[in-house]
Amino acid sequence: MGAPGTTEHHHALASELRRRWAHGTVEHCIGGRLGPSRGGATFDDRCPADGTRLARVAEGGPEEIDQAARAAAEAFAEWSGTPGAERKRILHAIAERIEARAEELAVLETLDTGQPIRFMASVAHGSAANLRYFAELAPRVEHGECLPARGHLHCTMRQPIGPVGIITPWNAPLMIATWKIAAVLAAGCTVVHKPAELAPLSASVLAELALEAGLPPGVLNVVHGTGEGAGRWLTEHEAIRAIAFVGGSATGARIQGQAAATLKRTQLELGGKNPVLVFEDAELERALDAIVFMIYGLNGERCTSSSRLLVQQSIAERLRPRLVERVKALRVGDPLDPATEIGPMIHPAHRDKVRRYVALAREQGAEVVGGSTAARFGPESCYVDPVLFFGAHNSMRIAQEEIFGPALTVLGFRDEADAVAQANDSPYGLAAYLWTRDTGRAHRVARALEAGTVWVNAHSVRHYDAPFGGMKRSGLGRDGGEHGLRFCMETKNVVVAHDPLPIDRLGVAPAAATPPEP
Ligand code: NAD
Repeated sequence: MGAPGTTEHHHALASELRRRWAHGTVEHCIGGRLGPSRGGATFDDRCPADGTRLARVAEGGPEEIDQAARAAAEAFAEWSGTPGAERKRILHAIAERIEARAEELAVLETLDTGQPIRFMASVAHGSAANLRYFAELAPRVEHGECLPARGHLHCTMRQPIGPVGIITPWNAPLMIATWKIAAVLAAGCTVVHKPAELAPLSASVLAELALEAGLPPGVLNVVHGTGEGAGRWLTEHEAIRAIAFVGGSATGARIQGQAAATLKRTQLELGGKNPVLVFEDAELERALDAIVFMIYGLNGERCTSSSRLLVQQSIAERLRPRLVERVKALRVGDPLDPATEIGPMIHPAHRDKVRRYVALAREQGAEVVGGSTAARFGPESCYVDPVLFFGAHNSMRIAQEEIFGPALTVLGFRDEADAVAQANDSPYGLAAYLWTRDTGRAHRVARALEAGTVWVNAHSVRHYDAPFGGMKRSGLGRDGGEHGLRFCMETKNVVVAHDPLPIDRLGVAPAAATPPEP
């Protein structure tokens, strides 16, 4: 089987998983029971690396969404009344089970998404950490403040909002699902999860592990299916009180509309075209490492990818050969090989989208420079070469639109004002990166940038308590720590008079209308 961590070992595990997943149909999990769609509708889940079918998956529709929403509504009474300490215990128990299957989950995510194993190796530990973080918050999610006033006291408290619909994308399925689901479960809400149809398998494993860990039936329901066929019904269902969505901006806008009729609260984490600003005083070697990692890591299929590089003109010529050298050396290949840095795109349609942007860059007069090894997999494969677009302008489509692949648009800027103006000249506002040794400039530019998160001299390091979300077309609302809890909780104010407060007495004779002194 080969030593753990080797390509051989990963392939042996992958063969075992393929055998297991090819057996029967991957079913929905509704009210704690696995079941098919009515009428037996299914869709194929394919492996991006070779196009083979990994699994046949139940394709849900309005009926399955309705059953799941009802199950979540029924389970809500018990789960919202379960003591926080017990919710904490169960979330930790789920985390434990995820960690126990770390290697299997890493290989499964790689098979299902095409993301290289070097990035997926830590997916179980990261996902378990998401659950453990929110587990610790569970016992105090309802806490509020006590606001004394003359003769009366205001007590604020939070209460879980109700069943929450969670809709997730395919690029980091387990990490994103656990981050969202953990917050909602810690808050005492129940969940209907509609995972991405292009990478649905880890969602089913998560539901299975949650049941094993003692999560009551109906608290976490999973309905598989497409966005229009299943997701849409979830956003429109009466019993669902809020929708936490992670995905593309156009889909987010559609969901906002779909959820409007039932006045659902929505949290939308959407796309980005994130600028990285490199000033002439930057520590170039570290900036280079971060630029390459943030756009080419995870196949460029990452919402926070630094896909727009803005370099101060005075250092552009110095940076260019270093960048070209690194990009040409990127290892494209088998995602189960730990040496691989770029795997296949998720789907042929997405591969074509990335290829169209490369063609568009040439048509618009940009210079395309990059690797040339993807061709060995054949034109029908989902592999693409990592590329750099030089000679571009910020107004070009390759600088304005999210490509979501290993393609970096390189732009120049004159000075600080020009850098900020170009960075903000974008429909998106998810993240921005800036590299400078000047502390004053770092603060000034960070304040001026229109982005939910600005990383200074860093790649996308996270703090679980920190807010995360986008401005403009990158989203609505924030998650992370308290922000995530606030989204799925109602805040109530209970006002108690402890003294007889003067009340204007209406409907009594004028002489008796004066209230007594408290
Ligand atoms: P997508 O918008 O196509 O799909 C996301 C999910 O929405 C899927 O589960 C899909 O089935 C569902 N969906 C589609 N139409 C729907 C509808 N009408 N109603 C309800 N659900 C619907 O996105 P994708 O291609 O899976 O993911 C890539 C996108 O996600 C990129 O734009 C990326 O930037 C974004 N993303 C954002 C973040 C973030 O935190 N901001 C994180 C990861 C990915």
